[in-house]
Amino acid sequence: MTDKTQTAAETAPKPVPAVFARRESEVRSYCRSFPTEFVSASGATLRDAAGREYIDFLAGCSSLNYGHNDPDMKQAVVDYIMADGISHGLDMHTGAKAAFLEAFEKIILEPRGMDHKVMMTGPTGANAVESALKLARKVTGRTNVIAFTNGFHGMTLGALAATGNAGKRGGAGVELNGVTRLPYEGAIEGVDSLAYIEAMLDNPSSGIDAPAAFLIEPIQGEGGLNDASKRFLQGIEKLARKHGALLIADDIQAGCGRSGTFFSFEEMGIEPDLIPLAKSFSGMGLPFAALLLRPHLDQWKPGEHNGTFRGNGHAFVAARVALEKFWSGDAFEKEIARKAEILTARLSRIAERTGGRLKGRGMMQGVDVGSGELAAEICARCFEMGLIIETSGAHDEVVKVLAPLTIDEGLFEQGLSILEEATDACAPSAAAKIAAE
Ligand SMILES: *Cc1c(COP(=O)(O)O)cnc(C)c1O
Repeated sequence: MTDKTQTAAETAPKPVPAVFARRESEVRSYCRSFPTEFVSASGATLRDAAGREYIDFLAGCSSLNYGHNDPDMKQAVVDYIMADGISHGLDMHTGAKAAFLEAFEKIILEPRGMDHKVMMTGPTGANAVESALKLARKVTGRTNVIAFTNGFHGMTLGALAATGNAGKRGGAGVELNGVTRLPYEGAIEGVDSLAYIEAMLDNPSSGIDAPAAFLIEPIQGEGGLNDASKRFLQGIEKLARKHGALLIADDIQAGCGRSGTFFSFEEMGIEPDLIPLAKSFSGMGLPFAALLLRPHLDQWKPGEHNGTFRGNGHAFVAARVALEKFWSGDAFEKEIARKAEILTARLSRIAERTGGRLKGRGMMQGVDVGSGELAAEICARCFEMGLIIETSGAHDEVVKVLAPLTIDEGLFEQGLSILEEATDACAPSAAAKIAAE
């Protein structure tokens, strides 16, 4: 927080321009939780038109892992624009794309022993998931895809079919098909999901058609921060291999460092065939997505899967800077681990006070406070106190922290203190009980 501006709690709000209610579609959503007009942002701080400052624990749903307007990414993009760099080139060869691919190969893929190729898809996560589903079906000649309870994969019809959320599915307007849903780890109390899935797939009369792929989030971002164990993910990989299916790890939200490592599955001992990436992949919130694929799966004919906006010139520049700046050594991973420890400690305390439960891992953790009503109340109170934070889960019952990975530790603690205070205010009986003990 700077001296010039005041925190949200200290200043009067300013009404938002009437044009939003008058002209913008009712489908708008996040703006309803944070009813103000934002005008600028840097690092982990957002500013609104009234000069109020907010600590950002949402970070564009993990699209801003490196914070808002990183000075080096910003400078590189400005320089590129001023030199008349190619902003849009379809998928023609450009210097910016070459430099990005070389950096990605050298800094991320080679050190991890990954031979994946990079397919530029349309600019959203859903585009990358859609590409993965199409490719898996094309390569295997099968249509069925196994997806998991509480999974979230995007809003286009293929990706939506694999998404669990009933409200989102209700918007489809057509039948959502080609997907068999099976329980994620821990989805049903007392049931070993892996054993159940294995039994279903091994039984030729279970009614489940041979799958083209298993599509899984190693940590479920929207579905309540459920994180799968090594045993579960390795078991799913083994089943995929056994049944001739591909393994798709949707790392759109959990990837790019959010879990603690660049890919969320790095310490899980699995080798996914297809990996959709988006959100923070561009480094500074520019629309950019890609699908990583094992070379033997690179079976599209030229142009067989196409699109106008595949690879954004400005995103290539920012994404390259992000890789060079944050992923060249292991300092950033250590920084994330340190902050994740702070997060675990502070959220455990909040969980204890609310009788709630800690969820997630890395810098992707939250507290299941037991009800969507209480979680919404806590988030609304946080907003009044100058903290932007959202919920997750089947009943929106998880208050989810997605702070920029680069957040200053002092500011991080400050945001967590606001969350703690807001929680105490909204769940006073739980807090009082703790105090009385
Ligand atoms: C956000 C998200 C998507 C969809 O990305 P969009 O850019 O919103 O289309 C897909 N999968 C996961 C895990 C996500 O978090």
